[in-house]
Amino acid sequence: MDYAAFNQELFDFIGNSPTPYHAVGQMAERLEAVGFEPLDERASWSLEAGKRYYVTRNDSSLIAFQTGTGNPVESGFRMIGAHTDSPCLRIKPNPEIYKKGFYQLGVEVYGGALLNPWFDRDLSIAGRVSFADSQGKLQDALIDFKRPVVTIPSLAIHLDREANNSRTVNAQTDLPPVLMQSAEADAVPFKALLAAELAKRQPALDVGQVLDYELSLYDTQKPALVGLEEEFIASARLDNLLSCFIGLKALIDADSSQAAVLVCNDHEEVGSMSAEGAQGPFLSSVLDRWIGAGDRSRAIAQSMMISADNAHGVHPNFADRHDGNHGPLLNAGPVIKVNNNQRYATNSRTAALYRHLSESLSLPCQTFVVRSDMGCGSTIGPLTAGNLGVRTLDIGVPQFAMHSIREMIGFRDGVVLYKVLKAFLGLEAVG
Ligand code: ZN
Repeated sequence: MDYAAFNQELFDFIGNSPTPYHAVGQMAERLEAVGFEPLDERASWSLEAGKRYYVTRNDSSLIAFQTGTGNPVESGFRMIGAHTDSPCLRIKPNPEIYKKGFYQLGVEVYGGALLNPWFDRDLSIAGRVSFADSQGKLQDALIDFKRPVVTIPSLAIHLDREANNSRTVNAQTDLPPVLMQSAEADAVPFKALLAAELAKRQPALDVGQVLDYELSLYDTQKPALVGLEEEFIASARLDNLLSCFIGLKALIDADSSQAAVLVCNDHEEVGSMSAEGAQGPFLSSVLDRWIGAGDRSRAIAQSMMISADNAHGVHPNFADRHDGNHGPLLNAGPVIKVNNNQRYATNSRTAALYRHLSESLSLPCQTFVVRSDMGCGSTIGPLTAGNLGVRTLDIGVPQFAMHSIREMIGFRDGVVLYKVLKAFLGLEAVG
């Protein structure tokens, strides 16, 4: 696999996926291009052996799978999980704020965003808009302004001399971005601005009245290779669109004989409890419809899930934040994530299977366990393991600046994880 081609494809995927809705749209497009058939949860399904399908929920979560040529009750599922959402700023339902001749937008923080990096960026707006057409019929459309339409200017250091020592961010008062200069009397309601933007579509969209929306701010700066030798990647939403991209590519390229599943859930960054989140019934419902609820337990007992979500690489300026023996390096391979308190679902068997597979391909891997005096993050791994009873491994590409508006990884590690996951999906047995 050519690193440059893989990473360019990754850049296109992330660049075209400013929100979970867009990411799922991108994944669906790629799956259909290689013959995956779309399923509708409202319809009855008659799935055939040796075929490939995908289904979405709320347009923000996606499950893609291949039925394989054998009986999944006998051989189980090879599963990969990731999440489509990233921490960001979301526009409030009644967002219009007028101050000193500026038209600003009220925003809500989604997930555990690092807020300081959102200042002084050329931000755009994207997401899903629900509207009534001229016949009064309800419709949805994805919207992406693409150009920088908002920004959150910093306060000058001259007006806040302690900024470098103690600047904190009040999400209610400090974050509303500037949309335009406009007196309140002249300002168009935000929903009318959305309707006008949608009306510019070619072919024309019949937008009667915008009724509601879920919109995020995002950075218009494109993903890039950085470093003197271009050995790093800097981009928004690497956590966790990188793992969605790797899982998608691994499934598309995998040997087609095994029953294999890719699940990409929304709402991981806010706890996963939703109709389309990993604590919801989306995956179990798809598996039941595939092989029947009665046979699911047998199939699950022969299955394994790899939950792919980025890991913390050891930062040279903050190396003491890692355990001395568990400081994953960028470009030194994917990271097996271990936490005996089950914040990660890895156990010695799932880790051993991964190490064995990775070694057989002569590829590197590393291990992370958090410092014993610090708390630990989590992933959809323990939630899926707990819901389905499936043995699970938590793994991810090491990164810096997790939950910043611009994150950083090594240029090699995504390709390595892709190769191992592709081989995993073709395994005849997982124990
Ligand atoms: Zn994540």
